[in-house]
Amino acid sequence: MFPMAPTPREGTRVQDSASSLAKPLVLVVEDEAALATMLRYNLEKQGFRVEEAGDGQEALTRIAETQPDLVLLDWMLPVMSGIEVCRQIRRRAQTRDLPVIMVTARTEDQDAVRGLNTGADDYITKPFNMDALLARMRALLRRSNAVPVKGQLVFHDIAMDLAAHRVTRNGRRVHLGPTEFRLLEFFMQHPRRVFSREELLDAVWGPDIHVEPRTVDVHIRRLRKSINGEGELDVVRTVRTAGYALDTEPV
Ligand code: CA
Repeated sequence: MFPMAPTPREGTRVQDSASSLAKPLVLVVEDEAALATMLRYNLEKQGFRVEEAGDGQEALTRIAETQPDLVLLDWMLPVMSGIEVCRQIRRRAQTRDLPVIMVTARTEDQDAVRGLNTGADDYITKPFNMDALLARMRALLRRSNAVPVKGQLVFHDIAMDLAAHRVTRNGRRVHLGPTEFRLLEFFMQHPRRVFSREELLDAVWGPDIHVEPRTVDVHIRRLRKSINGEGELDVVRTVRTAGYALDTEPV
């Protein structure tokens, strides 16, 4: 069922050329070396860039380092199971929307359903057909690209031009401070999702910056004041004890 993979050749990857940057990056998390090699060979042939991780802990490290576009996640892994890796991916604000395909052995099928419950977007059973896997990967990547990350972001009557650093609401120009701009950008990339103050600090201020969670409240207040014109709907939803969301629905 798997096409035969040739012996792996070290150092043949061209990671940093301009053309390779446009290719989607897939993180293959797999402890069976032969399967990982086969996946790399076939995915690279199909125009993907590939990174690998051999266990669950390494997977989380590689995700943070390389920011892949999609993760192929083996279920049975040393150190930390695929399920736990998936949970952690979903728990972090930066990786909450990262597409994950869980790879299971046939006997783990029942568990795979549980895998979907913990946040995998799809799953495929070993041994799988490469074309079937590619079809699922492409479908997921298309879906995740539906939320534009470059250029223009739109939510309700708010438009954000990232290149020009310009925000308009209902055609009216909105002036935002740099932190409010980044807050709004993050919210617009994840509309209707509730983020805790800690998650917002992590995503907008960065994990190495140590500021009080109350700082978030201050900037949310400023964002509201700028973005909500007179008589306009408040698009920032406060969720008691949970945090904030960009939303047009009342609590
Ligand atoms: Ca395994």
